[in-house]
Amino acid sequence: EIAVPDFIRAIAPYVPGKPIEELERELGLSRVVKLASNENPLGPSPMAVQAMQKAMVKLHRYPDGSAYYLTEALATHMQVAPECLVLGNGSDDVIAMAVRAFMRTGEKAVMPHPAFLMYDILVKTVGGISVPVPLQGMDLDLDGMVAAVEDETRMVFVTNPNNPTGRFIPLDRMVAFLDAIPSSVLVLLDEAYIEFVNDGDRYSGVSLLTTYPNLVVLRTFSKAYGLAGIRVGYGVMAKEVALWLHRVRQPFNVNLLAQAGALAALEDDGFLQETRKLVSDGIRWLSEQLEAMGLITHPSEANFFLVDVKREGKKVFEAMLAKGIIVRSMHGYGFPRCIRITAGLPEENRMLMDALREVLCEIP
Ligand code: PMP
Repeated sequence: EIAVPDFIRAIAPYVPGKPIEELERELGLSRVVKLASNENPLGPSPMAVQAMQKAMVKLHRYPDGSAYYLTEALATHMQVAPECLVLGNGSDDVIAMAVRAFMRTGEKAVMPHPAFLMYDILVKTVGGISVPVPLQGMDLDLDGMVAAVEDETRMVFVTNPNNPTGRFIPLDRMVAFLDAIPSSVLVLLDEAYIEFVNDGDRYSGVSLLTTYPNLVVLRTFSKAYGLAGIRVGYGVMAKEVALWLHRVRQPFNVNLLAQAGALAALEDDGFLQETRKLVSDGIRWLSEQLEAMGLITHPSEANFFLVDVKREGKKVFEAMLAKGIIVRSMHGYGFPRCIRITAGLPEENRMLMDALREVLCEIP
């Protein structure tokens, strides 16, 4: 028998959803609508698709191991030196590098609970211990997270805007939090949804990097940029931190098509603005409809939001799924009466509302 370390045995596997086509076949439906994974309903930027098509003739070559052009473009975009960037096969990959570089068995990572599941899984892959800090209502308990830091703590995860609540931490609270975290503890500030934040509120942790050399800001092309399928994310950090992550980075971790697609998507600002408008209009419309039905919606600055369906959320999720509408059940996430909805196209949002009206009649 193969010896498996106890800390690997302790990892709860990430359970992927079924392929959409398989669900359509099983349910006998011509169209299943997925509003569960905070993807971009517009699809990819046409400019990104075109760039990837052009790059295809080079598929027999290894990708550029330094992702030179994408790194340069991101450096300009973020107004940092290229040496401050580490690119990954999704932002998950950057988290995995941080864990490999900075955490050993028995050391700890403080994180919100509930939070993006991969934080916990990746920490555990190296024998690290996750220290979950429950949300305070809809917000991260930043004081509680500071209080949870011990001698063995190597990193703290902060999600801004938060998933699944969509709440955004104002700058003064973020600064107070960063001041209170020892400089030997890495702060992984996950800004996966930052592009959706209202213009009046938005700031990025990138502007704080010179003050806090222990800060790593995580970004992704999977959400607002519409490229979840090609897996590109990145971290912005002090050059010294980046050097350690590069030591444990796989040399060709961002593939050739991904580099070409992300570079073109970054330049397609029109697509980004269209996405932001579609999402904010969608959330407003959905919230109005849901509130008119007597349900409670929670304000969000991301491309998803929580709705209190006033009954067991898991049952609503299952009944919606049977009608071909996939939302996210918050069962096991501390919000048993909620579902999480990603804003879709207007037509998808209408289909969701039609299905939900039926479902709520079926489940009193
Ligand atoms: N962080 C958060 C908060 C997320 O919700 C997600 C995706 N669900 C990710 C990171 C992962 O992003 P990527 O696709 O870049 O790995």
